[in-house]
Amino acid sequence: MIVVIKPNTKEENLEKVLKKIQELGFETRVLKGVLRTVIACIGDERGKPQLQQAVEAFDCVESVVPILKPYKLASLETKGERSVIDIGMGVKIGGKDLIVIAGPCSVENEKQIVETAQAVKDAGAKAFRGGAYKPRTSPYSFQGMGEKGLKLLAKGREAVGLPIVTEVMDAGDIPIIADHADVIQVGARNVQNFALLKHLGKVKKPILLKRGMMTTIDEWLMSAEYILAGGNSNIILCERGIRTFETATRNTLDISAVPVLKEKTHLPVIVDPSHGTGFWQYVAPMAFAAIAAGADGLIIEVHQKPETAMSDGAQSLKPQKFAELMKQLRIIAKAVNRIV
Ligand code: PEP
Ligand code: MN
Repeated sequence: MIVVIKPNTKEENLEKVLKKIQELGFETRVLKGVLRTVIACIGDERGKPQLQQAVEAFDCVESVVPILKPYKLASLETKGERSVIDIGMGVKIGGKDLIVIAGPCSVENEKQIVETAQAVKDAGAKAFRGGAYKPRTSPYSFQGMGEKGLKLLAKGREAVGLPIVTEVMDAGDIPIIADHADVIQVGARNVQNFALLKHLGKVKKPILLKRGMMTTIDEWLMSAEYILAGGNSNIILCERGIRTFETATRNTLDISAVPVLKEKTHLPVIVDPSHGTGFWQYVAPMAFAAIAAGADGLIIEVHQKPETAMSDGAQSLKPQKFAELMKQLRIIAKAVNRIV
């Protein structure tokens, strides 16, 4: 059940409603939008008809709405308006501006980080990506530089002034990642690691939640719900391709997830055409398709020398190709009334 609060309600009156709901044995989460504030009541409503009555008695309550969907906090119906997520350094995802996040799959060395960050920034990227903890299929593949990699990413941020996106795999690494990064990425392989998601609900940093290669859209939204229910409402969803029978591409990029999600959730949606296709040649066309379909941004792998990359070289664009993509992207963005 959600409780819609009247506009311009004083904080003290909102507090009174929250207290009442909590007294009746429910947890509360407040979703504050630009236009309205709603309280989501979390708990089993069966056998507690008094909740609705008790809440409706408050003057500041506009309406009480039962939400039948399993994901209450992630649903667009609950919030009533789209979320714009502030990732720091003046960058916001979910508004009119399209946000392109770019950088290497893995952090490899300082020169690579600083030069690539500068190159993607010059081309128009608004955030920098790089993996320090890498989820690799083989235990013998490069596992990432760990803490050293985080320090290099922080150097890159200082050098060029872009917010940093990097992946977490282990809940134990959350504090150190949160200290160095602006956005914490949950990779496809961890989208249903519910223990990790619960920890991320307690974190103050925004979360980039990738779709799992085998998760349906509803399962993915339930994963977002775990983080929201924990108290962190700053989530960006990222479609990165799913497993199908097709083998010509690494994954099948589900562009249709974009309009579906726009109907179901208030959370911003970005697309990863690099992991979505697995080949650099297909990155630009799929990036254009994603933006045309209504995505709020992209995350793209860029490497100075893809043939020597420690991971995902085949799908990485050289800085020059990335700059060309950004130029063409501006034309598509304009056609759908967005700005890059
Ligand atoms: C990545 O972003 O480098 C990555 C491992 O992505 P995914 O989790 O989508 O495979
Ligand atoms: Mn990668």
